Amino acid sequence: MPVPSITLNNGVTIPQLGFGVFQIPPEQTREATLTALELGYRHIDTAEMYGNEKGVGEAVRDSGLRRDEVFITSKLNNGFHAYDDALAAADRTLADLGVDAVDLFLVHWPMPGSDIDYVQTWRAMEKIYADGKARAIGVSNFQQAHLERLFAETEIVPAANQIEVHPYLTQNSLRAFNADHGIATEAWSPIAKGAVADDPVIGKIAQEKGRSPAQVTLRWHIQRGDIVFPKSVTRSRVQENLELFDFELSPEDVAAIDGLNRDERTGPDPDTFNLIP
Ligand code: NDP
Repeated sequence: MPVPSITLNNGVTIPQLGFGVFQIPPEQTREATLTALELGYRHIDTAEMYGNEKGVGEAVRDSGLRRDEVFITSKLNNGFHAYDDALAAADRTLADLGVDAVDLFLVHWPMPGSDIDYVQTWRAMEKIYADGKARAIGVSNFQQAHLERLFAETEIVPAANQIEVHPYLTQNSLRAFNADHGIATEAWSPIAKGAVADDPVIGKIAQEKGRSPAQVTLRWHIQRGDIVFPKSVTRSRVQENLELFDFELSPEDVAAIDGLNRDERTGPDPDTFNLIP
C-alpha cells in the first residue's frame, strides 16, 4: 500500500509516514535505515543531535534509490543558534549526510531561555533555504508564542512544526494553530516511546481490528492528518509500523483515543528546555 504524501506550504511533498532514528547508535544507523528503506520507507527523520547523520547518508547511498526518492529531514542542534553558527551547522549536516540539500531542515528546539534569540536563528534558516541547502525549512518544539514571534519578525512561515504528540498528549490546540497558519504538524514519539502497547483502550480497538496497539495509534495520527516517523531497531516492528494503509478507524475509535489525553509529556517542556548537549 503506498504511503500518502502531505504538501507543505511551499509545494514540497513529504511522505506522511517516515522512519525516526533518535537513539539509534551511530554504528547501527546504516543498517537500521537500510532495513527501513528496503521495507518501503521513503522518509527518514534524523538530527545532528542524534550523532547518526553519517549512517543515514550511507544507507540512502547504499539503498540503490535515487536521492530524490528519499525525503531526508535533519535539525539544527541547540548549540548553534547564532546566525553564522547555524549556517556552518547546516553545511556540516549536508557534509555528514553526503547530500547537496536536505528536504526539510528544522530548528530542533526554540530554547527561549538562551542568550541567542530564535528569531536570529530563523533568519539563518531563511538564508539556508534561499541558498538551496534545504528544500523546506521548519521548526521543532515551537509553542504558539514562539511561532507568533516568527510571524511578526521574519519573512518565511515555517513549513512544519515537529512536536511531541501521542494519545497522552494530543496537542489539539497547537495542532489547530499550526493548521490555521499552513504549518504541517509532525508528531514525535508517536507511540509514546512504546507505552501505547499496554493501553487498555487502544488494546481493545487493536483486538477488534486484528492490529497491534502501535498500528492503531499510528493510524490514529494518520487519520488526524499528522506526519509520523516511529523509531524501531526491530525489523518486524519496522514492517508492522508501515502497515497502516489497509484499514481504518471509525470516528468512535478516533474519539476514544482522543479521550486518552492527559497532557503528559515523555520529553522536555519546550518552554523551559535550554540544554546544549
Ligand atoms: P516512538 O514513539 O517512535 O517509540 C519508539 C520506541 O517504541 C522504541 O523503544 C521501539 O523499540 C518501540 N517500538 C517501535 N515500534 C513498536 C511497535 N510496533 N510495537 C511496540 N513497540 C514499538 O519514540 P521516539 O522517541 O523514537 O520518536 C520517534 C522519532 O521522533 C524519533 O526517532 C525522532 O526521529 C523523532 N523525535 C524528535 C524529537 C524532537 O525533539 N524533534 C524528540 C524525540 C523524537 P525498538 O526500537 O526496540 O523496537
